[in-house]
Parts: sequence; structure tokens; C-alpha cells
Amino acid sequence: MESEALFNEEVEPPGRITGLVVGIDYNHRIDDIFPSRNTHPNPPVVLIKPLRRVSRFKDSTRAQAFRKHFYPEITTAEWQDWKWQFRNRITDVRTLSQMIWLSQEERLAMNGQEGHLPVAITPYYVSLLDEMDVSQPLRRMVVPVTDECCRTAEEEEDPLGEENDSPVAGIVHRYPDRVLFLVTDSCATYCRYCTRSRIVGRHQKSLSNIDHWESAIAYIKQNPQIRDVLLSGGDPLTLSDSKLEWLLSRLKEIPHLEILRIGTKVPVVMPQRITTQLIYTLKRFHPLWISIHVNHPDEITPEMSQACTRLANAGIPLGSQTVLLHKINDNMDTMKRLVHGLLKIRVKPYYLYQCDPIPGSSHFRTSVNTGLDLIGGLRGHTTGYAVPTYVIDAPGGGGKIPLLPEYVIGHEGNHLILRNYQGRIFHYPDSRCTP
Ligand code: SF4
Repeated sequence: MESEALFNEEVEPPGRITGLVVGIDYNHRIDDIFPSRNTHPNPPVVLIKPLRRVSRFKDSTRAQAFRKHFYPEITTAEWQDWKWQFRNRITDVRTLSQMIWLSQEERLAMNGQEGHLPVAITPYYVSLLDEMDVSQPLRRMVVPVTDECCRTAEEEEDPLGEENDSPVAGIVHRYPDRVLFLVTDSCATYCRYCTRSRIVGRHQKSLSNIDHWESAIAYIKQNPQIRDVLLSGGDPLTLSDSKLEWLLSRLKEIPHLEILRIGTKVPVVMPQRITTQLIYTLKRFHPLWISIHVNHPDEITPEMSQACTRLANAGIPLGSQTVLLHKINDNMDTMKRLVHGLLKIRVKPYYLYQCDPIPGSSHFRTSVNTGLDLIGGLRGHTTGYAVPTYVIDAPGGGGKIPLLPEYVIGHEGNHLILRNYQGRIFHYPDSRCTP
């Protein structure tokens, strides 16, 4: 597609109706079916099952009840259309207050949101919110409160110093062999603790315009040490299939790129986006990895599980990036339910992040000891795959620093003194160690 047409498009154009390869018929060759083609070599026939353009999700009973109550005129097909979900995001206090009871703090925060992180919540995600309980974890992550206005001394607009590591607009080049490519400022739902609150939801369109993308791609081409690109933003899966395909195709052409990655919260807040057509597009760009942003076990709904299953069935390795948040997931029971729930839908708990000190985030932050205790409560006590790496993204651009409880106690002669998950002490004969 011509890039001009691509960037002028208002809505995603109709995709190609295509099919899934379901097998190979070795008894027949292409020339048997199309003798006039005289193909060389003459390959066996690939059996293709046509795809329906719309492949339905099974909505949870909760979502169905919510839709019938608040959107009685909306059909199941419309509710399951990600563009409908995106267009109908709840952004104002009046609409939200018709769906859930809002406290005075929430009302004030929503009314005074100019200049702060914007509010937008998909109808699907609103359907998961508790109508009355302002302390419900899911609600706290997306509905603002007046605490967001309290700024502490250590908080910064760009706590990770990303702007300092940005050689061209939209590229953050911190580690030698990989870059972060910010492709949009748009998200399906805005998280109240977002590290990139300085960027997201500003409607500047600067991140997602063609000139910006071209210069970012040129930078990647000019730097052969880059082997890995992480598309982020904002949320890359809020782009149309055509734009995503354009971006991924251009990156795929760069010979020194070994893998592509996408960071997204869309399967959690707008799982309807994971359409059959999107899966078909993504599958063409392997090795492609996706990091999903999941913070609480209640986000693992039937719809979200279906979205992850589609991605996993397409051969896309899935990891979860979780932000440690006060009174949301900073207790052992919630964290265990989260990591176990993720493994059950084939998502590896990848990182547990200490919450970055963005302006107005002090009510979300926990002590580092809380994070260490959680890791100590998981390691050895459950499946190793379930244990994420706990990291602090160092202020000012130091990169991710992993944190572990103390398992190495010290040395005694040629022995290393170790503590196991139960607190028992062991001496390991480390004959090559230099105390
Ligand atoms: S989806 Fe990601 S980028 Fe968007 S608001 Fe949430 S944390 Fe920030």
C-alpha cells in the first residue's frame, strides 16, 4: 500500500480474506489443479481452510449483562468489534458516573484532569469495575483520584531519562544491541501509574506520523549492532492492521534485525482487538515476541484468556510485565494468583517492576522490601516459570537492575554459604572461589 494512502486512512480498510494452512496433500501437485501454470518446481497442494473475517469471542456473562444494561441497542457483534470499543471509550465523569458510583475524590480528579494523565477506559474494562468499591484494584488502576495531584520531591516527568537516550524522535537507544521504538501515543485505556505519562494520550500524532517512523527506521538501518526492536508507545496494538503490517514489514527488511517485540496492554483492556486477521498479520513476522502488561489476577477474564490463546496458538511467545502497586498486587495471595493464572494461559511472568516515580504516583509505590519479600515467597515455593525477575529501572537512564533476596550469605574457606528458599543454610564446595 502506498504510504500516503496508509496514513490518510481513517479506519482500517477491509483486510484480505485469507485462510489457515491445515495440511499438505502430497498426493496432488499444483500442476494437477492448474495444468496451465506449469509450475517449477511442482509443489504439493497446500490445504487451506478459509477464515471467517470475524471470529467471535465468547463474552463472559458479566460482560453480557453489562452490555445489555448500559448499551441495550448494541449488538454482540458491535460489542466485540475493537473499533467500537476504542471509539466508545469512557473519558468523562458524566458517562462514568452513570456506570459506577464515583467518590468525591474520583469526581474531583476526573474534573481536574487537564494537564495530567488523560482518562480513557474501554467499555469492556469498565464492565470489570466494581460499581461501589473505590478500593477495588482494577478500579484504582484506571480511575483517577486526587492523590494524583500530590507531587513528591523524587518524582519526575521522565524518571528513566528516556529523552536523553533518544538519538531520533521516538527511538530510545539505551542498551547497545536493542532499541525501544515508540510508535504511537495512544492507548486503549490509560493506566494511572504509567511510566510514559508525559507522552501518552496527548493526541499530538507526532509519534505515529510517517516522517517520524521513516527517520526511526533509517536510524535502525544505520546501526548494525541493533538486533532487537521493541515496539511500544502508547500501545502499538491500537494501530490498524495495515499500519502495523507496514511497520513490521519495513523492520523485517533490515538484515541485522533478529527479533521484533511488541509491548501491549491491549489483550487485557481490549481483548477484542486480537482478531483472526491481526493474528494472520502478526504470524508473518516471526520471530515476534509479545509482552503483555497484566497487574492483577482479576484481569485474566475469559475474553483476555481467549486473546492470549489466539496469540500463543500463533506461535508468539508471551511474557507479562507487571508493575508492583500498593494495595493492588503487593500481597502474596494476589501475586500467586496472578502468576499462576498467567501460566495457565501460556503467559510467562517476565518482569515485576518497581513502580517508577512519575508525578503523582506516591500512592501507588511500595517499599523495595515488599517486592523482595514477594519474590522470596515465590522462588522455590512455586513453579520456576512463575517467578518474574524483580527490577528497578534505574533513575536517569541506568537501565533495569535485577533485585533478589539474599541467597548468597558469604564464603567460608573454599565454601560458598547459601540460603535456600526455606531459610536453611548450605555449604557449597566452590573449589575455584577466591574468598
Ligand atoms: S497501556 Fe502502557 S503505555 Fe498505555 S497508559 Fe498503560 S502503562 Fe502507559
